Amino acid sequence: MFKKILLGLAGLLALGLAAIFAFQKPIGGWLFERAVQQNVSLDSIAGLEDGLHIGLCGTGSPMANPDRAGPCNIVVAGDQVFVVDIGEGGGRNLSLMGVNAGNLDAVFLTHFHSDHIDGMGPLMLNHWVRGSNTAPLPVYGPVGVQAIVDGFNAAYATDNTYRTAHHGEAVAPSSGGGAEARAFEMEGESAVVFERAGLRVTAFTVPHDPVDPAVGYRFDYQGRSICISGDTMKSANLERTCEGVDLLVHEALQMEMVTQLQDALTANGAENTAKIMFDIRDYHASPQDAAESAQIAGAKMLVLSHLVPPLPSAYLYPAFLGDAPDHFDGDLIVGEDGMFFSLPAGGEAIEQTRLM
Ligand SMILES: [Zn+2]
Ligand SMILES: [Zn+2]
Repeated sequence: MFKKILLGLAGLLALGLAAIFAFQKPIGGWLFERAVQQNVSLDSIAGLEDGLHIGLCGTGSPMANPDRAGPCNIVVAGDQVFVVDIGEGGGRNLSLMGVNAGNLDAVFLTHFHSDHIDGMGPLMLNHWVRGSNTAPLPVYGPVGVQAIVDGFNAAYATDNTYRTAHHGEAVAPSSGGGAEARAFEMEGESAVVFERAGLRVTAFTVPHDPVDPAVGYRFDYQGRSICISGDTMKSANLERTCEGVDLLVHEALQMEMVTQLQDALTANGAENTAKIMFDIRDYHASPQDAAESAQIAGAKMLVLSHLVPPLPSAYLYPAFLGDAPDHFDGDLIVGEDGMFFSLPAGGEAIEQTRLM
């Protein structure tokens, strides 16, 4: 009896599998149609409650990593949407996370290392054509941002003419392509560089020699606050400026793991890459440095990003963190692309979701 039931089930399973392959074409067409319906209506920002929100659109570094784009953060304050740093793959993640770059208000750059700007081209293009924007994308940054923006605009100028010629002025208005630099001076250690509709953005200098200028940003909105470190060694100025912040996004480089990489590269005769691994240790912060800074600042939550080296699995997180958890009393999270944190206006809560 049991044997008969088993044989019957096996037969049904075989029949089902045969049907899946026999009808692959119509089933595939139906699956695609469903996916199209879900994706074209995807807008992760539209339904957000009033407050301050941050999404991780890139938690990687210049080192190749299939799971992490280059440094990229989305900050939403009420109905204003910003991107802070735009590393390679960041723009693609924005789309996958349901964030329409056409609705972006501005970009903030922390510094001009290539991994923080090399996603700018696709972002400028999507801001323009997805929003049919009639003015270029504002890009805020310390002095030097003009040359960066000029370079990207020059590289994309020819493509811009094709887009307008092909899609028309209504979709790709010739006045809206590219970006527009908004440089700010850093005379002291911190400066308010943007204020609008209840949002205040403060830039603060961070040590990332020989990269100068290099800044981080603090966002304050409706009693909630977020700091983004940019690239930095352990920074006393960050600890001061980010005092009492709800959420701190801090870069992290695991010194021992990078040393292991350096040794392996040396053993393999890759002296130049080994030298780079040696050099990068002196202008970044370790997970423990980040935890200590979060503790001194009194942050409620610490999210590590710009992770060096790449971590192929979450199983490696404890090894990456080392003693960091012992140095911070709040919530410590290893950032992943697609994570999204909401800080409702006037409240205390930090709600965590995933957009991809
Ligand atoms: Zn970097
Ligand atoms: Zn850097």
